[in-house]
Amino acid sequence: MDAVEKYRKHVITSCVKKLEPIILTEGTGAILKDSSGKQYIDAFAGISVVNSGHCNAAVIEAAKRQMDRLIHACAYVYHLEPVADLAEKLAALLGNRLDVTFFGNSGAEAVECGLKLARKFTKKHELVALMCSFHGRTLGTLSVTGQAGRRGYDMGPYLSGVSFAPAPYCYRCQLGLEYPKCGIQCAKMLEDVIAYSTSRNVAGFIAEPVMGEGGIIVPPPEYFPEITKILNQHGILYIADEVQSGFGRTGKMFGFEHYAATPDIVCMAKGIADGFPLGACTTRKEIGDSFEPGDHLSTFGGNLVSCAAANANIDYMVKERLHEKSMQDGHYVMKRLTELAGKHELIGDVRGKGLMIGVELVKNKGSKTPAPEEAAKVRDLCREKGVLIGHGGVKGNVVRIQPPLVITREQLDTILDVLSQAIRAVAH
Ligand code: PMP
Repeated sequence: MDAVEKYRKHVITSCVKKLEPIILTEGTGAILKDSSGKQYIDAFAGISVVNSGHCNAAVIEAAKRQMDRLIHACAYVYHLEPVADLAEKLAALLGNRLDVTFFGNSGAEAVECGLKLARKFTKKHELVALMCSFHGRTLGTLSVTGQAGRRGYDMGPYLSGVSFAPAPYCYRCQLGLEYPKCGIQCAKMLEDVIAYSTSRNVAGFIAEPVMGEGGIIVPPPEYFPEITKILNQHGILYIADEVQSGFGRTGKMFGFEHYAATPDIVCMAKGIADGFPLGACTTRKEIGDSFEPGDHLSTFGGNLVSCAAANANIDYMVKERLHEKSMQDGHYVMKRLTELAGKHELIGDVRGKGLMIGVELVKNKGSKTPAPEEAAKVRDLCREKGVLIGHGGVKGNVVRIQPPLVITREQLDTILDVLSQAIRAVAH
């Protein structure tokens, strides 16, 4: 039995629409190899995770060194050096405005911590999130996820006391308006959501600075400043879910830095340790200190090997200025994709920041009817030609380009060439 057959027999795959029909065995930088020896350029980075590249030598070395010394002792029972170092590093990355961290193992756990902290600190219990958002697959994080499709069927009810505000999704504005004439009505509506949809007992507002799973939705620059103005008036905490947009992905170390609005709580995972499982929730000391003994703990959270890897990974990213590279590469890719959009009816919208880029496919530009089958075909054609792209969005019609940030310009050109051939083939 090969891995495909064993998966079919012994792994729960009923929850995914379609697994990519390849067995990946090796990776380095932005290159992946499958079991037949075929090479691929990775344009998805394990869903925006391996920002410093597959098997980054500095990260591997740090992890191996830690593995030879100690793997697990439990970060909430003992003091552990890599955990302490990482907490200090994250505080420095966040300008020491947010300076205390809780460690978990995943994005969902980082978000769970953020939601609980907001409630504990404010002594209020309601939450506001965005339509089209995604925050994880636990019952708590699904409760603030604004997509029925991702909540699945027959697994509710979810948490009560959660309200949703319209997404800053300009291409498909839920209010039927057009930016910038709209005056950022979607942000202003937060006031209405609080007034009419809650009992004014809101602890936190959670949002992704750039919305990933929803289809790489980029809020306009005025969006978060308007949101935080309203939040401040109501004493509501801003929880930034940086799980996907963090660690250089959007051209800044964190996505929120694109906006003149500072979060109270930042949730991180994915790119933090270049592939080692780790989640982190960083906040101000006064908020972090609201947890009392026993309130929130995780046996594996802040695993020594993951933390050692994260420390080396962050040092590498800072030294190589990967966020700046991501910004420059992002401009280049967006320019080429925008030119491509001019040639194809199939491309409705191109949007992104840094190397977090989405291409929304539509049946035609006028109707904007989503083209999810076409997006799936484009992904398959790209894979056949040796390029692994992502695929998602609330309507399943967004092609996602989120490669390792160490990718070379030549590799980006190959991705763009293969993608444009695939789009041409599907359009015809
Ligand atoms: N938040 C965001 C913004 C995400 O993109 C994801 C994962 N796609 C999560 C939370 C959940 O992360 P994890 O799968 O590590 O639990």
